[in-house]
Amino acid sequence: MQRLSARILSSKDSRLGPGSLWAPLPIPACRALTYAGQIKASQLLFAMVLHASGNSPYVFPSRETLSKYSGVGKNSITQALAVLERFGFIRIDEIKQGPTYRNRYELLRACWHWDEFNEVASRYKVPKGHCTKCGNWIYSASWYYENRRSGLATIRTRVHFNCGGVVKNLNRNQMLITRQQEELAGMPLYMVGQVCELEIPE
Ligand SMILES: [Zn+2]
Repeated sequence: MQRLSARILSSKDSRLGPGSLWAPLPIPACRALTYAGQIKASQLLFAMVLHASGNSPYVFPSRETLSKYSGVGKNSITQALAVLERFGFIRIDEIKQGPTYRNRYELLRACWHWDEFNEVASRYKVPKGHCTKCGNWIYSASWYYENRRSGLATIRTRVHFNCGGVVKNLNRNQMLITRQQEELAGMPLYMVGQVCELEIPE
């Protein structure tokens, strides 16, 4: 993943040279929505960004266009739009166009900035733990509780919905580098541990 920089804007890369058409993918927003299980909302946001001019935060695609570019069925669009509003990624208002009204969508800064996430989106910013079986980071509450015996004691254990593995909290080092990992790539947790040992000796 690359940060948008002056170097890229003035790139000699033939793929990004003058006249090229490109759009800034809202990576933090799409990731948070994916972690939250809101894939349709993520796809819808992607379709909106495809229609952004680069000079204005406003886009005006019709519902038909949104459906065509996102693959989200027309019946699901209203719900997906509500999710995007709740996460603080878009603002919707109506503008008059001739005798009718149509939606105007404002793409908000939080789409591209982890630091500007609202309360709802922030729940899906930082992993709450990791699964010791599949190695995935766990966002929000994607576990259930189970009482397990350990010697004489019974321990309330968090179990990952997807794979049945035990969920552990991230340790301090893992928390510290979470953001960095998010910005670099989706690095699996077993590698995060190795990076910790290399970079933060204790
Ligand atoms: Zn798991």
